[in-house]
Amino acid sequence: MAGVRLVAHAADPAATRGRRHPEPPAAPRSEFQRDRDRIVHCTAFRRLEYKTQVFVNHEGDLFRTRLTHSIEVAQIARSIARRLALDEDLIEAISLAHDLGHTPFGHAGQDALAQCMAPWGGFEHNLQSLRVVDELEQRYGAFDGLNLCFETREGILKHCSAANARLLGDLGERFLQRRQPSLEAQLANLADEIAYDHHDVDDGLRSGLLTLADFEGLDLFAEHARAVRERFPGLAERRLVHEVLRRMIDERIEDLLAQTRERIARAAPADVDAVRRAPPLAAFSEPMLARVRPLKQLLHGRLYRHVRVVAVMDEAREVVSELFRRFLADPGLLPDEHRIRNEAIGPRAVSDYIAGMTDRFAIREYLRLAGDGPAARALLTSPLAAGALAGRIG
Ligand code: MG
Repeated sequence: MAGVRLVAHAADPAATRGRRHPEPPAAPRSEFQRDRDRIVHCTAFRRLEYKTQVFVNHEGDLFRTRLTHSIEVAQIARSIARRLALDEDLIEAISLAHDLGHTPFGHAGQDALAQCMAPWGGFEHNLQSLRVVDELEQRYGAFDGLNLCFETREGILKHCSAANARLLGDLGERFLQRRQPSLEAQLANLADEIAYDHHDVDDGLRSGLLTLADFEGLDLFAEHARAVRERFPGLAERRLVHEVLRRMIDERIEDLLAQTRERIARAAPADVDAVRRAPPLAAFSEPMLARVRPLKQLLHGRLYRHVRVVAVMDEAREVVSELFRRFLADPGLLPDEHRIRNEAIGPRAVSDYIAGMTDRFAIREYLRLAGDGPAARALLTSPLAAGALAGRIG
């Protein structure tokens, strides 16, 4: 970030609250740059390529995956951080890591695993992202995990129950004291929302489950569509959609910047700790929230709960639950390194193993364990597995 002067309330890599295992400085990289680099090189990051965002990975090559979603979040987040003279490296690191703990098959997978793990402390993808960077990645000789800075870990842990917070030491404190994380963390969270609201419109249209007419009924979409048609009469639909979406993203970002600047001016935080003690400083305006609400309702009601999406996700839930039952009943089925962990920590190791799976690996494991019984035969002909197998997973 040479040459860019950051505001006093930006997170300062030179004043980091440190790593769990002390390490010599990363110069010439900043501590947050080093975190970003460690995240990009880790295994869990590459797995995001084959994990569902809304559509199962193999349903189409052009749908968002967790990986492309995370990259879009990082792009939006960095633009915002730059405009507010905050630390771009930190916000990028948080954005790229925020979904590392996601199970295969998106929220259906997470719900199923949470249900399986209910008797043993539950499962929450956000907490799992932290577990990945703190414990599960095995790349360094001196420690488990990636040994990231406090500020990056603070940003990854977006929410957390009081019970879990008590187990997390200094990282959990803010949930018990109702404090905020850094502005970089707050904004990465809202950049996530900006990214998925818009790319889900794009993916929803691409899938054919939603049509342009569905969105034309929303003021937010219709106003921008009118402006685009005036400027480019007769524009092809795909281009029209992109022109509208980029305007919608800009509008959200500008609103977020204006509202956040206003709150910063009011709170006048002297440093990042003052940001943590202040009420949330990163926010959309009330009118913006009201403007976006019908869009979110449309996506929830018509896309996320579309019968075709739900049918695939029901099968996904079954795959995850069955994998859990099988591995828990017979830990001998786990790969060596997880079997060792299973002896030490039981169901949590099974949960870690399943959470780490990509969509297609989970399907393959399910088929391997199911042999050629009726369950396997049923899955083989289902929309969930058909695409994965046609794609010659191997
Ligand atoms: Mg996300």
